[in-house]
Amino acid sequence: MPAISLKVTHAPPGGVDHAVPGAAKPLFRGTGDTDYLCGNCGAVIALGIGPTQRVPFDSTTCSACGAENEFPPSLRG
Ligand SMILES: [Zn+2]
Repeated sequence: MPAISLKVTHAPPGGVDHAVPGAAKPLFRGTGDTDYLCGNCGAVIALGIGPTQRVPFDSTTCSACGAENEFPPSLRG
């Protein structure tokens, strides 16, 4: 199961120490096997995305640490 770290576009306001590991819930859940992780704290942001699946946003904020993560162009809908 591949895991890809997303590119962080804005650091979280509280810094990496502010992260709450395990508290984050994936924002997206797909039917594939690729996980996309927060580039700052490693929390799962999109779980099990298939090769043809897309997410409806260019970027999203990690629910664990608050960092803004940018989805790769291939993942945008
Ligand atoms: Zn994070």
